[in-house]
Amino acid sequence: MNRRDIFTGHLARRIATVGVLGSPDRPLRVAVVGSGPAAFYVVERFFKQKDVTVEIDMFERLPVPFGLVRFGVAPDHPKIKSVTKVYERLAADERFRFFGNVHVGTHVSLSDLKRHYHQICYATGAQTDRPLGIPGDDLEGSHSATEFVAWYNGHPDFREHSFDLSARRVAIVGVGNVAVDVARILCRTEAELQSTDIADYALAALAESKVEEVWMLGRRGPVQAAFTNTELRELGELDGADIVVQRQDLVLDRLSANALEASDDRPLAKRMEILAQFAGRDPIGKRARLGIRFLVSPVEILGQDGRVAGIRLVRNRLEERDGGALKPVATDEFEDLPVDLVFRSIGYRGVPLDGLPFDEWSGTIPNDEGRVLDDGDPVPGVYVAGWIKRGPTGVIGTNKPDSRETVNRMLEDVASGTVLDPEESGRDDVVETVRAVQPDFISYDDWHKIDALETKAGEESGRPRVKLTDMEDVLAALRG
Ligand code: NAP
Repeated sequence: MNRRDIFTGHLARRIATVGVLGSPDRPLRVAVVGSGPAAFYVVERFFKQKDVTVEIDMFERLPVPFGLVRFGVAPDHPKIKSVTKVYERLAADERFRFFGNVHVGTHVSLSDLKRHYHQICYATGAQTDRPLGIPGDDLEGSHSATEFVAWYNGHPDFREHSFDLSARRVAIVGVGNVAVDVARILCRTEAELQSTDIADYALAALAESKVEEVWMLGRRGPVQAAFTNTELRELGELDGADIVVQRQDLVLDRLSANALEASDDRPLAKRMEILAQFAGRDPIGKRARLGIRFLVSPVEILGQDGRVAGIRLVRNRLEERDGGALKPVATDEFEDLPVDLVFRSIGYRGVPLDGLPFDEWSGTIPNDEGRVLDDGDPVPGVYVAGWIKRGPTGVIGTNKPDSRETVNRMLEDVASGTVLDPEESGRDDVVETVRAVQPDFISYDDWHKIDALETKAGEESGRPRVKLTDMEDVLAALRG
């Protein structure tokens, strides 16, 4: 279809005077929904354009910015969190405004945004998790890793969750970096956690933890595991746990051995070295044992009196499928592993957004390089970036080229005049619209106040910050 034909709807118009939009007289007005890394890299890319005058408003449903950097990155990984310094610099630009505690979909709709902006970019991430879909998944003591991560990171929606850390044995299904984070946090000593920005209530709960055995369960072999080497290596350096890897789990099947041999992937060879080194260690009596198992899939979470009592595993072998990927195939060998808690850590998943198409299979919004597609046709003026665009893969830095691609498409559409035609494009109009529906919206200045309170509380207790996790506390702190 000719792109000219696509943009004839009433929401988009071809601007005759190409070049005028994006000039100082007529700034390009962009709404970014979400405030995690992908959202800030969209802002960064726009601010790098010397010949486009742009004003960006960021909408965040939580009272505080930074999305997964604040609520996903593990508290014992402060270096990764330091990326927010870049975001702070972007936010200090007068072309940027923040509307926290404003839910697009509840407080303001996509139609509201279309009345104010030429372009809208959703960078809402992947807010939920994938289910295991096996019997017993709903037993007490069976949780998603994403909930646990959000809980220990002080996410306001998860602060009331509870995890029974009087449990002695824990299974974590999956061997990605989130599984590694969960395993590490469960095995850290109180002393190790005390110097982090972990939520206060989680610190207290973990200090009382009785966990003494943690099993990470990979459905494929070590060659196919999703964790990265830095994260894997760290598991062998914990004060609170001895790492346990069985030598026989590192004996590769023919397909994996061939894949390893044919690969010139140095990190993969290094991974096998690290695992072999772990397998050569004897436990030295640390508080807990942290084991990594391969080629096992859970088929049932076993219960007793409604609570998790174990996990039934089937042994897998690998088979080559179309495209050469090695897939796990169940054998008839089963094993019951006694555990009291189960965390499924098999990937995040995006959630549908009001007024936008959604692909249930991938959990993303259908798009072409960031341009949202409805039945294959671009939705004028609406874009996506980050995990809601590509799915929950990659590290924080992966979002940079991803957001760059989206903004490049947005700029192309500005150049061709295929943008929305907002009725009310004054900057103050937005504040009025938001205030009318959410008087408790949080500006970037407000965030600075929250940040100052948190870091001051942190200084007093030798921690980077003490997070405010209750929305009422946040508002009370701002009013006070
Ligand atoms: P991930 O890397 O995709 O790992 C998911 C794991 O779940 C894989 O081991 C996968 O095995 C397994 N899995 C999927 N479906 C399963 C099933 N039905 N049964 C058993 N196992 C199953 O996802 P993630 O750990 O949630 O991480 C998301 C992204 O964030 C990743 O890109 C990760 O690197 C990144 N991250 C980075 C850091 C860091 O840099 N420190 C920290 C956290 C997260 P298969 O491979 O067989 O599918």
